[in-house]
Amino acid sequence: MTKKEFTIRSTSPTQFINIDRQVQQILNESGISDGICVVFVPHTTAAVTINENADPDVTHDIIDELNKVIPWADNYAHREGNSAAHIKASLVGASEVILVENGRLVLGTWQSIFFCEFDGPRTRHVYVKVQ
Ligand code: ZN
Repeated sequence: MTKKEFTIRSTSPTQFINIDRQVQQILNESGISDGICVVFVPHTTAAVTINENADPDVTHDIIDELNKVIPWADNYAHREGNSAAHIKASLVGASEVILVENGRLVLGTWQSIFFCEFDGPRTRHVYVKVQ
C-alpha cells in the first residue's frame, strides 16, 4: 500500500495523544491482515512512542521527567528557541514498528501508540504504512 496520513491537532506545548484508533483505522482500510505497520512522524519537534494507556499518570510522569532533564531554556545555540523540543523529539524517536496479525495491531494489554508533541500547540501529520 502507499503511505496514508492523518492530521492531529495538539492543544498544549507538551502532550502525548493516543493514536491507536487512527492507526487501526488505516490498517483496516489497507485490507492487510498480517505484516508490519510503520508509524512515522515527519516533524523535528514531535515524536511517537508506545507506552502505558491504563494510568494517565505514566505519560504525565514521562513528560515531567523529560522537562526536568531537558529544560526549555538552557543557553542553547539554536536561534529559533525550541532546542528542547528538538532534543526530546530525537530522544523519543520519529517512528515505531508494530506487528500486524489477523488484521489487528499486536500491542501488549497496557500498550498504546502515543503521538508526542514537544512544541505545541500545532497541527501535525502522522504517516502510516502497512506491508
Ligand atoms: Zn527549531
